[in-house]
Amino acid sequence: MLKRRLKLILLIALVVVIFAILVVNPFKVINDELSANGTSAVTHELIANNSSDGGSVEVIRNIGNPDGKKIAYIVGVHPLENDTHKTLLKLLPTVDNLNYCYDIYVINVSLDFSQYGHLLPDDEPGRATGQDLAYKYVYPQIVNGSYELAVDVHAHGGAYGDYNTFVFCPVDGETGESYGRNVSQSTQNISYYNPYHTTSGPYLTIPLNEHGTPAFYFEENSFITQSIKDNHMLELIHAVDNLKFS
Ligand SMILES: [Zn+2]
Repeated sequence: MLKRRLKLILLIALVVVIFAILVVNPFKVINDELSANGTSAVTHELIANNSSDGGSVEVIRNIGNPDGKKIAYIVGVHPLENDTHKTLLKLLPTVDNLNYCYDIYVINVSLDFSQYGHLLPDDEPGRATGQDLAYKYVYPQIVNGSYELAVDVHAHGGAYGDYNTFVFCPVDGETGESYGRNVSQSTQNISYYNPYHTTSGPYLTIPLNEHGTPAFYFEENSFITQSIKDNHMLELIHAVDNLKFS
């Protein structure tokens, strides 16, 4: 008698599980929501993957409004600064009702840079590799890609005195500078500060500015807490999305 009841309970449990899988498939629900939000326009494309380069480059395209003007973000030029890169990758796709269409260029240096520990000055390997990948693969696509703006996302170890979170264009007087100043003015916590020293400028932001694509850096202090980094990144995302392009 007891055995029979157990069998019946097991049978009912099995039916419930099958029903749950077939009818209320949680993955199906998530996918349906993504398509309803228009996120289905987002594509991932590997644009460089040669082992001799020491890394690869991927582009995530069409985040936001696929019909809007195009803006590029770049993460990974300096691989050690990846806390800030991950913050952008995590947050940008979650922001609703963006005005513009965003492509994120993701540089993945495959050399082991983690053993160098903290944010070191300009000499750790991986740094040069990321810059070379930026110049070889990211620069040509952005300068020829009809972008209104490119934002190169970095982090630092606190070497800039009072300036923790800031934007700057490495070339004074370019349109990239006025976009950067506009972003700073429309945010609470993002300063405009040009340190007049970058290692990566000649590989991306300087030639972009000089050849017709406005570009500026975003720099965040690696040692502040993640929740504050999230807030600063959201300030950047919204300020960039509210820039006016003629
Ligand atoms: Zn950097």
